[in-house]
Amino acid sequence: MVNVTVFGAGREVGRSGFEVKGEDTKLLLDYGVLIKEDRPVLPLSTSPKDLNGIIITHAHLDHSGSAPMLYVSGTPPVYMTNMTRQLTDILIRDLLHLSAYYIPFEALELKTMIDKCTEIRENGARIGRAEVEFHNSGHIPGSVNVLVNLEGKGIWYSGDINTIDTALLNRARIDLPELDMAIIESTYATVEHAPRDENEKRLIEVVNDVVEGGGLALIPAFSVGRSQELLCVLQRHGFKYDIAIDGMSRTATRMVASRPEELRDPALLKKAMSRIKWVAGDKDRKKIVNKPGVVIASSGMLSGGASIYYMEKAKNRSRDCVILVSFQVPGTPGRTLLDEGLYGPPGELRKVKCRTEWINFSSHCGRSNLMEIVRSFKGNPKILCVHGEAASCMEFAERIKEETGHDAYAPAIGNSFTL
Ligand SMILES: [Zn+2]
Repeated sequence: MVNVTVFGAGREVGRSGFEVKGEDTKLLLDYGVLIKEDRPVLPLSTSPKDLNGIIITHAHLDHSGSAPMLYVSGTPPVYMTNMTRQLTDILIRDLLHLSAYYIPFEALELKTMIDKCTEIRENGARIGRAEVEFHNSGHIPGSVNVLVNLEGKGIWYSGDINTIDTALLNRARIDLPELDMAIIESTYATVEHAPRDENEKRLIEVVNDVVEGGGLALIPAFSVGRSQELLCVLQRHGFKYDIAIDGMSRTATRMVASRPEELRDPALLKKAMSRIKWVAGDKDRKKIVNKPGVVIASSGMLSGGASIYYMEKAKNRSRDCVILVSFQVPGTPGRTLLDEGLYGPPGELRKVKCRTEWINFSSHCGRSNLMEIVRSFKGNPKILCVHGEAASCMEFAERIKEETGHDAYAPAIGNSFTL
């Protein structure tokens, strides 16, 4: 008998964590953190002592950010791709550095985890009595989806997944055996994305327009994945004006470029990297902010990092433009800017003068791509729709039931399923 329990990401985006427990094998699939109003919210807790392994599907904090907590009182084995190991290290380090709130572990536990990491390889791993396979997820560099075979039960976990090629990454290719359970993300289960090439063209139009009008185009972007993709898009379309990169996006870009085997066209990223301005400090920043060009800077929702510096100037200049390129979580400065045109510290929000654009370069499957994955399932798996707003998870589960007849659920945190 195998039990699967939802530790986090039930009817919410963030703090992914799923426990898979057989007679004498216990695995954790992801162990992330949810940052809500600047406070870290953790998944359900578990004793690290009887854990046979933790599998981290990718470096984003909502999948990796709580894992070091398991090293406060134990040293369970952890499995990540090499790229995920490197990126997780810098992202969690940054979380520890920037969080104004108490995080229940320190740099020492992070180091223990990183040192303890077993690198995920193509041919999979045996963890306890489970046979585990890993496949490219196309979401960010190093991301994988996971197939667990335990006590004759097949459990597939999508992690975050993208089945569309991007300028940076090859898409996930889904080819699964018969399943007993699928845990699938629902981030965009109710949203159809615009075609990638349309988004790319729109971005190029906007940046050309802004720069030719003498303005600064600020692109706040996630440091991992999105920043590199934007560089590739600008390069591929022959964008000829100045591009600068700042904040954590710099480190992440160098790291991503160091694993060319993860990329769809490593030469494109290399070329882009050779012509951009790598911001080295305040002197560079002052120059860049006062001349026409593009600046790519983390964080992606204007909630911190180098993008704030540029935003402080851009907000007062009508020739400048802020281009948001990802989903903006409600409550973040990026979302407030998009919805209301306001920016500033809490209680002091002011109307901005600059132009604001939203071009969503999502690295998640949209509605029909998710349904396509579900339709490809063999056997009669129970399907858990997770990692989405409550409405999104519930609508996705309903649609699956109607269109495929599979048992589908939008589980709450703490729900358990027996296979
Ligand atoms: Zn992710």
